[in-house]
Amino acid sequence: MSVPHKMKAMVFESQGKPLVLKQVPVPEPGDNHVFIQIHACGVCRTDLHIVDGELTNPKLPLIIGHEIVGSVVSLGKNVSEFKIGDKVGVPWLGYTCGKCKYCLRGEENLCENAKFTGYTIDGGFAEYTTADRRYVFKIPAGYDDNHAAPLLCAGLIGYRSYRLIGKDFETLGIYGFGAAAHIIAQIAVHQGKKVYAFTKPGDKDGQVFARKLGAVWAGDSTEQPPVKLDASIIFAPVGSLVPAALKASDRGGVVVCGGIHMSDIPQFPYEILWEERQIKSVANLTRQDGEELLEIAPKVPVKTEVTIYPLERANEALNDLRSGKLQGAAVLEMGG
Ligand SMILES: [Zn+2]
Ligand SMILES: [Zn+2]
Repeated sequence: MSVPHKMKAMVFESQGKPLVLKQVPVPEPGDNHVFIQIHACGVCRTDLHIVDGELTNPKLPLIIGHEIVGSVVSLGKNVSEFKIGDKVGVPWLGYTCGKCKYCLRGEENLCENAKFTGYTIDGGFAEYTTADRRYVFKIPAGYDDNHAAPLLCAGLIGYRSYRLIGKDFETLGIYGFGAAAHIIAQIAVHQGKKVYAFTKPGDKDGQVFARKLGAVWAGDSTEQPPVKLDASIIFAPVGSLVPAALKASDRGGVVVCGGIHMSDIPQFPYEILWEERQIKSVANLTRQDGEELLEIAPKVPVKTEVTIYPLERANEALNDLRSGKLQGAAVLEMGG
C-alpha cells in the first residue's frame, strides 16, 4: 500500500491544555521496528495522568495512547516474526535495555532505561506508528480492532495485578470497576473465583454492570463486603481505598494496587495489616504478561465493553473518562 507523508494525530503540547488535531509527519520504521497502520487505540486513565500533569516529564510534543491495535504495513531491518497485514497490538512498555539488573533478573517491567508508549515515545492517537518488535503482540483471532484495544493496557495491567496476588485464593475484591476491572473480573469468574466489586459510592449502574459480569456482590467502596477477602485489587486512584481494602482482608490477604498514580494513603493502625496481610503495587508489564493474557482472553472468552469515539474526539473521550461517565473502556477509532 502507499503510505502518505503526513498523518492525522491528536497532539499533547502542554499540561492542562486539550489535545490538538494536527497533520504531522508519518514516522519511519528503524531497524528492529514494525511500521503499523493504527485502526484503534484505547483511552486509559494513565493518559489522564499524563495530560493532567500527575506523570511528569513526558516527551513534548507527544502523541499519547498506549492501547494500539493496527495492521503491519512494513518491517524494519531484522524483523522476521511478523508479516505484512498481521493484526498487532502495542502496549505501554515500548522499550527496555535488556542489560540493567532488573532486565537481567526477569523484571523488565522495572527496567531503569525503559521507554513508554504514549509517554516517552509517541503513541497511538494517530493514524500510523512504529514500534519495537519486542513489544508488539499478535492480536488473537475473534477480536475486532475496537474490542481488542482495551486488552493492551486495561487487560494487561489488570492481568499483572491479578497475577501478583501470588497465592491461591477464593474471594477477590475489586475496587474501581472500570476498564481493567471489567476484563479481570471475567477471567476471575472463569477461574472459579468469587468476585466482590466496589464502586464509587452510589454508582448503581457500575454495580449492576459488575453483577452482570458475574460478581457475587457489588456495593459502595465505603461498605464492608459480606465476607473477608483473600485478595483485593485496587484500580481506582484513591489512596483511602488501601486501608479500606486491608480492613476487608482476611488473614494473609493480599492487596494489590494496580494504578500508576494514587492519592496519598491515609495513616492506618498496624492491626489492619497484621496477620501477614500484604500491600503490593504493580508497575508496567512484561512480555510474559502480554503473551499470557492474549492466550487466556479468547478462552474465557473475555468480552470487552467499549464506547467508540472518532480520533478527532479524543478530548471528549478523556473528559468522559475523567468524569466517570464511561462503562467499560473508551476507544478511539481511526478514520474510515
Ligand atoms: Zn533494563
Ligand atoms: Zn494504560
